[in-house]
Amino acid sequence: MTATTLEKTTSEKAATVEFRGLRREFGATVALDGLDLTVRPGEFLALLGPSGCGKTTALRMLAGFEHPDSGEVLVDGRDVTGVPAHRRDAGMVFQSYSLFPHLSALDNVAFGLRMRKVRTAERRTRAAELLDLVGLGDKAERYPHQLSGGQQQRVALARALALRPRVLLLDEPLSALDAKVRLTLREEIRRLQLELGITTLFVTHDQEEALSMADRVAVMRAGRLEQCAAPAELYGRPATAFVAEFVGTMSRIPGTLKGGSVEVLGRSLPVDGEAPAGPDVDVLVRPEALTVRADGAGDARVVAGAFLGAVVRLTVRLGDGTELKADLPAHEAGPLGAGTAVSVSLPERPMLVAERTAR
Ligand code: ATP
Repeated sequence: MTATTLEKTTSEKAATVEFRGLRREFGATVALDGLDLTVRPGEFLALLGPSGCGKTTALRMLAGFEHPDSGEVLVDGRDVTGVPAHRRDAGMVFQSYSLFPHLSALDNVAFGLRMRKVRTAERRTRAAELLDLVGLGDKAERYPHQLSGGQQQRVALARALALRPRVLLLDEPLSALDAKVRLTLREEIRRLQLELGITTLFVTHDQEEALSMADRVAVMRAGRLEQCAAPAELYGRPATAFVAEFVGTMSRIPGTLKGGSVEVLGRSLPVDGEAPAGPDVDVLVRPEALTVRADGAGDARVVAGAFLGAVVRLTVRLGDGTELKADLPAHEAGPLGAGTAVSVSLPERPMLVAERTAR
């Protein structure tokens, strides 16, 4: 990509976006229940959460396709809640590529410019530059049915950028693609976003996608924000049990609260963050935090092992029937086949605890 293309695509300073107390009901369904969130200038922020938690509704409110019952959407401090979609200055990419089937890639990208009455020569030049930007300079004359899914989504991305939007909105843009293309496009979208410095909101229910692409991830639950943090913080210091279990793998091990500590697997460890009333709780543990050793006298047993490349993820059943996941470097996992008696231990550090769930 040339410097001039970049300059032409990023003509203005990156935008700040704020959602303030957004609420939206659809009949008896509360889609958004007081959503507060700020997207920083130039940030790539992923909205992550289970199906139905309100991610798409929030994104559509920024695009102007949806309106809140109460609350505000601000762009650079300006209230845009009542501004119609076509004046919002937002470029959007959907899960379904939604290209015009009867238009070439070039004309698809140029479409919005035509609507804005940009002269033919100028819009063709600009559309060609954008196709170059997404690596499709040589496919400008192809129709959507002559392009792969990944290529169609690149055209959709170029089309979203054609009007030099202040914000880029991506609604599960990779979900319809096969795994390999998804990985490539993940990287390409992120690289492009960094180069353009455009404030971007990305909706996904795929935690791996969110963690690998975003500057910060906003985890939503039932129409509200649960936690918004950088990927490493979200993974390493989740604010709630919901976030801990939604992001990455977590095992629950029964423990007992005593004072400020929790007794678990024969040790007493400090509690990290808030603790429920107790005394019976579950301790939440990541697979890589557990140490598993072959131990003829241990009452835990390996149930199965899944080879994940660098590590093997063991499923271990404790004496009380609790099952947990533990990662071992692949070269150490060889002797720990199904049925092996093992002992499991925890690191010496504060533990996240949650209300005990029925087993
Ligand atoms: P998914 O990951 O499944 O796309 P989401 O987090 O994006 O989910 P939304 O699409 O924002 O969730 O929907 C939130 C809730 O509001 C859901 O229960 C959904 O069924 C409901 N909802 C959204 N749009 C409408 C609508 N136009 N009419 C009625 N209910 C709606």
